[in-house]
Amino acid sequence: MRPHSVIHLEEIRKSYFIGSNELPVLKGINMDIFKNEYVALMGPSGSGKSTLMNMLGALDTPTSGKYILNGHDVSQMEDDDLARVRNKEIGFVFQQFNLMPRLTAYENVAVPLIYAGIGKKEREEKAIYMLEKVGLGQRYKHKPNELSGGQCQRVAIARALVNDPSLILADEPTGNLDTKTSVEIMEIFGQIHASGNTVVLVTHEEDIAAHARRIVRLRDGLIESDKSVEDSLLVKA
Ligand code: ADP
Ligand code: MG
Repeated sequence: MRPHSVIHLEEIRKSYFIGSNELPVLKGINMDIFKNEYVALMGPSGSGKSTLMNMLGALDTPTSGKYILNGHDVSQMEDDDLARVRNKEIGFVFQQFNLMPRLTAYENVAVPLIYAGIGKKEREEKAIYMLEKVGLGQRYKHKPNELSGGQCQRVAIARALVNDPSLILADEPTGNLDTKTSVEIMEIFGQIHASGNTVVLVTHEEDIAAHARRIVRLRDGLIESDKSVEDSLLVKA
Protein backbone atom coordinates (compact mmCIF):
# COMPACT_ATOMS: atom_id res chain seq x y z
CA MET A 1 0.00 0.00 0.00
CA ARG A 2 1.44 3.37 -1.00
CA PRO A 3 1.03 6.00 1.73
CA HIS A 4 -1.29 8.22 -0.32
CA SER A 5 -3.68 5.50 -1.40
CA VAL A 6 -7.25 6.58 -0.65
CA ILE A 7 -8.69 3.10 -1.20
CA HIS A 8 -6.78 -0.12 -0.58
CA LEU A 9 -8.63 -3.41 -1.17
CA GLU A 10 -7.19 -6.82 -0.32
CA GLU A 11 -8.99 -10.03 -1.32
CA ILE A 12 -12.41 -8.49 -0.86
CA ARG A 13 -15.20 -11.06 -0.94
CA LYS A 14 -18.88 -10.41 -0.48
CA SER A 15 -21.68 -12.92 -0.39
CA TYR A 16 -25.36 -12.39 0.13
CA PHE A 17 -27.14 -15.04 2.15
CA ILE A 18 -30.67 -15.89 1.15
CA GLY A 19 -31.88 -18.32 3.78
CA SER A 20 -29.11 -20.90 3.95
CA ASN A 21 -28.02 -20.26 0.36
CA GLU A 22 -24.83 -18.30 -0.19
CA LEU A 23 -24.63 -16.09 -3.29
CA PRO A 24 -20.98 -15.08 -3.77
CA VAL A 25 -20.91 -11.71 -5.55
CA LEU A 26 -17.40 -10.30 -5.04
CA LYS A 27 -14.80 -13.06 -5.34
CA GLY A 28 -11.46 -11.58 -4.38
CA ILE A 29 -10.99 -7.94 -5.37
CA ASN A 30 -7.53 -6.37 -5.04
CA MET A 31 -7.13 -2.73 -5.97
CA ASP A 32 -5.61 0.58 -4.94
CA ILE A 33 -7.05 3.97 -5.82
CA PHE A 34 -4.80 6.95 -5.21
CA LYS A 35 -5.48 10.55 -4.34
CA ASN A 36 -7.04 12.57 -7.17
CA GLU A 37 -7.63 9.55 -9.42
CA TYR A 38 -10.75 9.54 -11.59
CA VAL A 39 -11.91 5.94 -12.02
CA ALA A 40 -14.82 4.55 -14.04
CA LEU A 41 -16.10 1.16 -12.87
CA MET A 42 -17.76 -0.80 -15.67
CA GLY A 43 -19.07 -4.31 -16.24
CA PRO A 44 -22.22 -6.21 -17.12
CA SER A 45 -25.38 -5.95 -15.08
CA GLY A 46 -25.08 -8.22 -12.03
CA SER A 47 -21.26 -8.27 -12.07
CA GLY A 48 -21.09 -6.71 -8.58
CA LYS A 49 -20.53 -3.00 -9.30
CA SER A 50 -23.13 -1.69 -6.86
CA THR A 51 -22.10 -4.24 -4.24
CA LEU A 52 -18.52 -2.97 -4.52
CA MET A 53 -19.57 0.70 -4.50
CA ASN A 54 -21.76 0.22 -1.41
CA MET A 55 -18.77 -1.31 0.32
CA LEU A 56 -16.44 1.48 -0.80
CA GLY A 57 -19.05 3.93 0.49
CA ALA A 58 -19.15 2.25 3.92
CA LEU A 59 -22.82 1.46 3.35
CA ASP A 60 -21.97 -2.22 3.69
CA THR A 61 -19.05 -4.36 4.88
CA PRO A 62 -17.30 -7.22 3.08
CA THR A 63 -17.78 -10.85 4.06
CA SER A 64 -13.98 -11.14 4.17
CA GLY A 65 -10.93 -9.19 3.06
CA LYS A 66 -9.52 -5.83 3.96
CA TYR A 67 -10.72 -2.33 3.04
CA ILE A 68 -8.39 0.46 4.12
CA LEU A 69 -9.82 3.94 3.53
CA ASN A 70 -7.35 6.77 4.03
CA GLY A 71 -5.28 4.51 6.26
CA HIS A 72 -8.21 3.31 8.42
CA ASP A 73 -9.45 -0.26 8.36
CA VAL A 74 -13.12 0.09 7.48
CA SER A 75 -13.77 -3.63 6.88
CA GLN A 76 -14.06 -4.45 10.60
CA MET A 77 -15.94 -1.35 11.75
CA GLU A 78 -19.21 -1.38 13.66
CA ASP A 79 -22.23 0.57 12.41
CA ASP A 80 -21.62 3.75 14.43
CA ASP A 81 -18.04 4.09 13.21
CA LEU A 82 -19.11 3.31 9.63
CA ALA A 83 -21.69 6.09 9.82
CA ARG A 84 -19.03 8.51 11.01
CA VAL A 85 -16.69 7.54 8.14
CA ARG A 86 -19.55 7.91 5.66
CA ASN A 87 -20.41 11.37 6.81
CA LYS A 88 -16.85 12.65 7.12
CA GLU A 89 -14.93 11.01 4.28
CA ILE A 90 -17.41 10.04 1.57
CA GLY A 91 -19.83 11.74 -0.80
CA PHE A 92 -22.20 9.27 -2.49
CA VAL A 93 -24.29 10.04 -5.58
CA PHE A 94 -27.00 7.54 -6.58
CA GLN A 95 -28.75 6.84 -9.88
CA GLN A 96 -32.16 7.57 -8.30
CA PHE A 97 -30.87 10.80 -6.65
CA ASN A 98 -32.22 9.65 -3.21
CA LEU A 99 -33.34 13.14 -2.20
CA MET A 100 -35.80 13.60 0.62
CA PRO A 101 -39.06 14.55 -1.14
CA ARG A 102 -40.44 16.80 1.61
CA LEU A 103 -37.28 18.87 1.93
CA THR A 104 -36.24 21.78 -0.28
CA ALA A 105 -33.04 21.66 -2.33
CA TYR A 106 -31.31 23.72 0.35
CA GLU A 107 -32.56 21.47 3.17
CA ASN A 108 -31.46 18.33 1.32
CA VAL A 109 -27.96 19.69 0.85
CA ALA A 110 -27.79 20.71 4.52
CA VAL A 111 -28.59 17.22 5.88
CA PRO A 112 -24.95 16.00 6.12
CA LEU A 113 -24.06 19.27 7.88
CA ILE A 114 -26.68 18.58 10.55
CA TYR A 115 -25.06 15.16 11.14
CA ALA A 116 -21.69 16.88 11.32
CA GLY A 117 -23.01 19.13 14.10
CA ILE A 118 -22.65 22.40 12.18
CA GLY A 119 -24.74 25.38 13.30
CA LYS A 120 -27.64 26.80 11.32
CA LYS A 121 -25.96 29.90 9.95
CA GLU A 122 -22.90 28.04 8.68
CA ARG A 123 -25.14 25.31 7.26
CA GLU A 124 -27.07 27.90 5.30
CA GLU A 125 -23.92 29.51 3.92
CA LYS A 126 -22.30 26.21 2.95
CA ALA A 127 -25.43 24.67 1.40
CA ILE A 128 -26.23 27.76 -0.68
CA TYR A 129 -22.58 28.00 -1.78
CA MET A 130 -22.64 24.36 -2.95
CA LEU A 131 -25.94 24.85 -4.80
CA GLU A 132 -24.43 27.86 -6.56
CA LYS A 133 -21.41 25.74 -7.50
CA VAL A 134 -23.65 23.20 -9.28
CA GLY A 135 -25.64 25.97 -10.98
CA LEU A 136 -28.77 25.84 -8.81
CA GLY A 137 -28.38 28.97 -6.70
CA GLN A 138 -31.77 30.27 -7.85
CA ARG A 139 -33.67 27.12 -6.96
CA TYR A 140 -32.68 26.48 -3.39
CA LYS A 141 -36.30 26.66 -2.14
CA HIS A 142 -37.63 24.14 -4.66
CA LYS A 143 -38.58 20.61 -3.66
CA PRO A 144 -37.46 17.60 -5.70
CA ASN A 145 -40.84 17.27 -7.48
CA GLU A 146 -40.46 20.87 -8.68
CA LEU A 147 -37.07 20.13 -10.25
CA SER A 148 -36.03 18.22 -13.40
CA GLY A 149 -34.01 15.00 -13.16
CA GLY A 150 -30.81 16.82 -14.00
CA GLN A 151 -31.53 19.48 -11.39
CA CYS A 152 -32.27 16.79 -8.77
CA GLN A 153 -28.93 15.17 -9.56
CA ARG A 154 -27.20 18.54 -9.13
CA VAL A 155 -28.80 18.84 -5.69
CA ALA A 156 -27.60 15.32 -4.87
CA ILE A 157 -24.07 16.22 -6.02
CA ALA A 158 -24.12 19.38 -3.90
CA ARG A 159 -25.20 17.24 -0.92
CA ALA A 160 -22.39 14.75 -1.60
CA LEU A 161 -19.80 17.54 -1.67
CA VAL A 162 -20.99 19.75 1.16
CA ASN A 163 -18.91 18.10 3.92
CA ASP A 164 -15.78 18.31 1.76
CA PRO A 165 -15.26 14.52 1.57
CA SER A 166 -11.98 13.02 0.39
CA LEU A 167 -13.76 10.48 -1.84
CA ILE A 168 -16.69 10.96 -4.24
CA LEU A 169 -18.56 7.79 -5.27
CA ALA A 170 -21.28 7.80 -7.92
CA ASP A 171 -23.29 4.70 -8.93
CA GLU A 172 -24.67 5.28 -12.45
CA PRO A 173 -25.28 9.00 -11.79
CA THR A 174 -26.46 9.61 -15.36
CA GLY A 175 -28.50 6.39 -15.64
CA ASN A 176 -31.82 8.26 -15.38
CA LEU A 177 -30.85 11.28 -17.47
CA ASP A 178 -31.01 12.12 -21.18
CA THR A 179 -27.80 12.51 -23.19
CA LYS A 180 -27.59 16.31 -23.02
CA THR A 181 -28.20 16.37 -19.26
CA SER A 182 -25.71 13.52 -18.79
CA VAL A 183 -23.01 15.58 -20.49
CA GLU A 184 -23.76 18.51 -18.15
CA ILE A 185 -23.56 16.25 -15.09
CA MET A 186 -20.28 14.75 -16.36
CA GLU A 187 -18.88 18.28 -16.70
CA ILE A 188 -19.58 18.77 -12.99
CA PHE A 189 -17.76 15.52 -12.15
CA GLY A 190 -14.88 16.76 -14.31
CA GLN A 191 -14.73 19.95 -12.23
CA ILE A 192 -14.90 17.95 -9.00
CA HIS A 193 -11.91 15.90 -10.16
CA ALA A 194 -10.04 18.98 -11.39
CA SER A 195 -10.42 20.61 -7.97
CA GLY A 196 -8.43 17.74 -6.42
CA ASN A 197 -11.04 15.17 -5.43
CA THR A 198 -10.80 11.40 -5.86
CA VAL A 199 -13.75 10.18 -7.94
CA VAL A 200 -15.06 6.64 -8.59
CA LEU A 201 -18.04 6.42 -10.90
CA VAL A 202 -20.06 3.45 -12.22
CA THR A 203 -21.42 3.64 -15.73
CA HIS A 204 -22.64 1.36 -18.51
CA GLU A 205 -21.71 3.81 -21.23
CA GLU A 206 -18.28 3.96 -22.85
CA ASP A 207 -18.84 7.67 -23.69
CA ILE A 208 -19.36 8.46 -20.04
CA ALA A 209 -16.43 6.27 -18.92
CA ALA A 210 -14.17 8.15 -21.34
CA HIS A 211 -14.42 11.16 -19.01
CA ALA A 212 -12.45 9.19 -16.41
CA ARG A 213 -8.68 8.64 -16.45
CA ARG A 214 -8.78 4.96 -15.51
CA ILE A 215 -11.28 2.22 -16.37
CA VAL A 216 -11.74 -0.84 -14.16
CA ARG A 217 -13.94 -3.61 -15.58
CA LEU A 218 -15.65 -6.16 -13.36
CA ARG A 219 -16.86 -9.52 -14.57
CA ASP A 220 -18.62 -12.02 -12.36
CA GLY A 221 -17.21 -10.54 -9.17
CA LEU A 222 -13.59 -10.21 -10.30
CA ILE A 223 -11.54 -7.46 -11.92
CA GLU A 224 -11.27 -8.34 -15.59
CA SER A 225 -9.15 -5.37 -16.63
CA ASP A 226 -7.75 -2.16 -15.17
CA LYS A 227 -6.35 0.39 -17.61
CA SER A 228 -5.62 4.07 -17.80
CA VAL A 229 -7.75 5.74 -20.46
CA GLU A 230 -4.66 6.55 -22.52
CA ASP A 231 -3.79 2.82 -22.58
CA SER A 232 -7.23 1.81 -23.74
CA LEU A 233 -7.14 4.42 -26.52
CA LEU A 234 -3.79 3.00 -27.62
CA VAL A 235 -5.29 -0.48 -27.73
CA LYS A 236 -8.07 0.76 -30.02
CA ALA A 237 -5.69 2.65 -32.35
P1 ADP B 1 -24.38 -4.53 -10.67
O1 ADP B 1 -24.43 -3.25 -9.93
O2 ADP B 1 -23.06 -4.79 -11.34
O3 ADP B 1 -25.51 -4.69 -11.64
P2 ADP B 1 -25.01 -5.75 -8.11
O4 ADP B 1 -23.84 -5.53 -7.23
O5 ADP B 1 -26.20 -4.88 -7.90
O6 ADP B 1 -24.53 -5.74 -9.62
O7 ADP B 1 -25.51 -7.25 -7.93
C1 ADP B 1 -24.64 -8.37 -8.05
C2 ADP B 1 -25.42 -9.63 -7.69
O8 ADP B 1 -25.79 -9.60 -6.33
C3 ADP B 1 -26.70 -9.81 -8.47
O9 ADP B 1 -26.85 -11.17 -8.74
C4 ADP B 1 -27.76 -9.33 -7.50
O10 ADP B 1 -28.99 -9.96 -7.74
C5 ADP B 1 -27.19 -9.73 -6.17
N1 ADP B 1 -27.58 -8.83 -5.07
C6 ADP B 1 -27.36 -7.50 -5.01
N2 ADP B 1 -27.81 -6.98 -3.85
C7 ADP B 1 -28.33 -8.01 -3.15
C8 ADP B 1 -28.96 -8.13 -1.87
N3 ADP B 1 -29.11 -7.08 -1.06
N4 ADP B 1 -29.38 -9.36 -1.49
C9 ADP B 1 -29.20 -10.43 -2.29
N5 ADP B 1 -28.62 -10.41 -3.50
C10 ADP B 1 -28.18 -9.20 -3.94
MG1 MG C 1 -25.67 -1.57 -10.06
